[in-house]
Amino acid sequence: LTDKLQEVFKKLRNKGKLTEEDVNAALREIRLALLEADVNYKVVKDFVARIKERAVGQEVIQSLSPAHQVVKIVRDELINLMGGQNARLNLAPKPPTVVMLVGLQGSGKTTTAAKLALSLKKQGRRPLLVAADVYRPAAVKQLQVLGDQIQVPVWSQTGDPVEIAASAVREANHKGYDVVIIDTAGRLHINEELMRELEEIKARVKPHEVLLVVDAMTGQDAVTVAETFHQRLGLDGVVLTKLDGDTRGGAALSIRAVTGCPIKFVGVGEKLDMLEPFHPDRMADRILGMGDVLTLIEKAQSTIDAEQAAAMQKRLLSDDFNLEDFLEHLRQFRKMGPLDHILSLLPGFGGMKKLREELQFDEKELIWAEAIINSMTPEERRHPEIIDGSRKRRIARGSGTTVQDVNRLLKQFEQTKRLIRQFMGSKHLKKKRFPNL
Ligand code: GDP
Ligand code: MG
Repeated sequence: LTDKLQEVFKKLRNKGKLTEEDVNAALREIRLALLEADVNYKVVKDFVARIKERAVGQEVIQSLSPAHQVVKIVRDELINLMGGQNARLNLAPKPPTVVMLVGLQGSGKTTTAAKLALSLKKQGRRPLLVAADVYRPAAVKQLQVLGDQIQVPVWSQTGDPVEIAASAVREANHKGYDVVIIDTAGRLHINEELMRELEEIKARVKPHEVLLVVDAMTGQDAVTVAETFHQRLGLDGVVLTKLDGDTRGGAALSIRAVTGCPIKFVGVGEKLDMLEPFHPDRMADRILGMGDVLTLIEKAQSTIDAEQAAAMQKRLLSDDFNLEDFLEHLRQFRKMGPLDHILSLLPGFGGMKKLREELQFDEKELIWAEAIINSMTPEERRHPEIIDGSRKRRIARGSGTTVQDVNRLLKQFEQTKRLIRQFMGSKHLKKKRFPNL
């Protein structure tokens, strides 16, 4: 979806002034891109209609940067579609807050229960996990194992899930647990038996939050499931799991619009710290690919003197990119904002978190890098490969750092050199984005 939308916006950007036809053509493509991303048909229709209404208005066509305006409208409407604000967990005025997790088998309920408990625990609360999925012995065991990992107690009993839930709330009252998280049973498909059991638990323990857990990777099925659960149970929110594996974004975009229920959390990995509050604006930016190359280039162009940038790019690509260039490069990049942020704009960088972390320089580190490079001889700066053990010791002494610091700087230099070359050297970029190369 991101790629498709970026294509559309690029076309618009190349146009300068927009006619109504340009906008219509872009809207057709946006519509297709959304449908391909498995966004609900009705949602797409309304969405496009709303954008059209705003985008063919005089203000856009006559504005100085019409394409920019269209992107902004699309962003606003995407955020609206997903509920605008981040919807938080409602905590009860008088503890314990009872949270009931429902959903189909395999959607991620048990994992989410533990993730939620961990995040509440980190906020200083005292959660109690409740194993109310009694049909599969392994299910109770699974929750116990997770509970052990995060050191949160797990309430379990044999017998009726409704009774288990009720006794867990009594236990919480008694022992001072302030959030009770009930992990319920699922089925492979929605059926009457499941719904009735969940209704009974709900009637009995009166949860403050009934959260539906759905798998983002199931796309529109997730939306249908959400509709059905909402009709029967009345949901307070949705947890969208496995967003890490969802490349299309259809469920994330449709659930709120179709059901009226906000997505409150998203699961972004199997590990227990991989649950995040859902922020519609951040999701919109991700979908739009705001971390895009265009932004990077625009930013770079406005900050770095064009000629200087061209010269720098040439040197970066050449074999004699040396430590002096490296220092210069660090200074330039710093002008644009935190290096980490800039790097996150490069395509393919999202997954290279570790490298990104290693490449981060703050003000202090820059001073430190500069001191080390200043203590080198010109020969060493141009040919870092000659820096051996005794030279490192001398440089460290001269710059008031340690040999480890020198090693680290040299490593960062090598990495930057390799990365930048990879990035600049990719055909796509050289051709399209750096016409002055
Ligand atoms: P339940 O049947 O609804 O209780 O589902 P589980 O909690 O047992 O999860 C089913 C599978 O999905 C497990 O293998 C989990 O590790 C995995 N899972 C759950 N949430 C996420 C997530 O956010 N990302 C990924 N990648 N896997 C997840
Ligand atoms: Mg389970």
